[in-house]
Amino acid sequence: MSGCDQPGLLPLEQALERLLALADSSRVTEVETVELSRAAGRVLAEPLLATLDLPPWDNSAMDGYALRLDDWHGQSLPVSQRILAGAAPAPLAAGSCARIFTGAPLPEGADTVEMQENVELDDAGRVIFRQPLMRGQNVRARGQETRSGDCVLPAGTRLGPVEQGLAASLGVARLQVCRPLKVAVLSTGDELVEPGLPLGPGQIYNSNRLLLISWLERLGCQVVDAGIVPDDLSRTRQVLADLGAVDLILSSGGVSVGEADFLGVALREAGELALWKLAIKPGKPLTVGHFQGVPVIGLPGNPASTLVTFGLLARPYLLRRLGVSRVEPLAFEVPAGFAWSRPGKRREYLRARLENGRAVPYANQSSGVLRSAAWAEGLAEVVEGRELAEGDRLRFIPLSEILG
Ligand code: AMP
Ligand code: MG
Repeated sequence: MSGCDQPGLLPLEQALERLLALADSSRVTEVETVELSRAAGRVLAEPLLATLDLPPWDNSAMDGYALRLDDWHGQSLPVSQRILAGAAPAPLAAGSCARIFTGAPLPEGADTVEMQENVELDDAGRVIFRQPLMRGQNVRARGQETRSGDCVLPAGTRLGPVEQGLAASLGVARLQVCRPLKVAVLSTGDELVEPGLPLGPGQIYNSNRLLLISWLERLGCQVVDAGIVPDDLSRTRQVLADLGAVDLILSSGGVSVGEADFLGVALREAGELALWKLAIKPGKPLTVGHFQGVPVIGLPGNPASTLVTFGLLARPYLLRRLGVSRVEPLAFEVPAGFAWSRPGKRREYLRARLENGRAVPYANQSSGVLRSAAWAEGLAEVVEGRELAEGDRLRFIPLSEILG
C-alpha cells in the first residue's frame, strides 16, 4: 500500500496490479467438497482429471448403418443386428452391416457408418450404399474428446453450467473447491434508508447494499450484511467490532476525504488505510488497507462509481484470492457511436449500449445514476487524453463479463 497517499492519479492497471498482489498474498487455502449440483459459482481447488476416456467407446455420430469397410466392394449388405443407444452390441457378423442410431456403440469389427439418408434398401431388406464410403466416417472414436488422465479443468477454474456439465460427463459427482470468501458489506451514510421504509427529508434509498450483496453472492461469496453505518464514529467502531471473522470488509461511501469519513477514522485506529485516487471516471476515490489484519476495500458511494470500481478492481481481487488466474473481463473493440471532444485526465467508463455494432453512451453519465448501468450493456472505455470521432475504435467491456 506504500505510496498510495501520494498526490497524483493512480492508473487503473497499477491499482489492479497492487490489489492482485495483495490478493496473491492472502489466497484462500482451505478446500471443501461440494456436490456437483451445488458447484456453480465456486472455484476449483484441484485440477479435474479424467478417469475415463470420452467417449468411452467408438460410437455412431448418425442414424444409419455400421459396416467394416473392407467387407464392402460396392455390393449391398444384409442387416445383421439393430443397435440403439444404450445397447451392448454383438461383434459384427462378417459381410453384414448393422442398423445403428446416434450415440450407439459400434459393434466390434465395424469401422464406418453411413447415414441413413444415403442408403436404399432392396426388396430383401439389404442395404445399398449409394455413395463412396471413407473409413471412419461418422464414427466418434473412443477418447476423441478426452483421454483418461487428461487435465480437463485446471485448479482455479470458476465453475458454471459448462464446467458442471463437463464434470458430469466424466462421472464426477463431487468437486474439491475453495471455501467461499466471507465478505462484510457496509453501507455508510446518514442519508441512507432501506427500501420498504418511508423516505424522510434529505434521505435516499440504499442502492449499494443490494448491488454489492447480490453481486458478491453471484461470485460465490458468503455475505455478512452490516447494514447501514451512520456517519458517527462510535457507532462505526461498534459495527466494526461486531463484524466477527471475515475475509474482506467492503464498504461504500465516505471515501472522498469528506468530513463524514468516520469509517476511515475507525479503520485507521486499528489498522492501516490508504486513499487511492484512481485515474478513472466514475470512481476516483478508493480506500485500501486492513483492519485488525482483515483486508478492507472502501468503494466510492455514488452507485455508478461503486459499480465500476467493484467490477474492475474488487471483483478481480476477490477472484484472485480464490486462485482464479484470469480475473479480468474479456473486452473487445467496437466503433464509437459518438464523438468525444473533451479529453480528460481520467479514463472514462461510459455506460453504453451496442447499437448496430457501435457503442452508444447513456445520456446521463453522472456517477450517481445507476439507471445508466441498467440501460447499458457494457462499459465503453474512453482513454485519458483522447478525443474520439464517430467510428473510432474503443474497448467495450460487456457488463455480462463482470456482473457474474
Ligand atoms: P460519499 O462517498 O459518502 O460522500 O457518497 C457519495 C455519494 O454517493 C453521495 O451522494 C451519497 O449519498 C451517495 N451514496 C453513498 N452511499 C450510497 C448508497 N449505499 N446508496 C446510494 N447512494 C449512496
Ligand atoms: Mg457518505
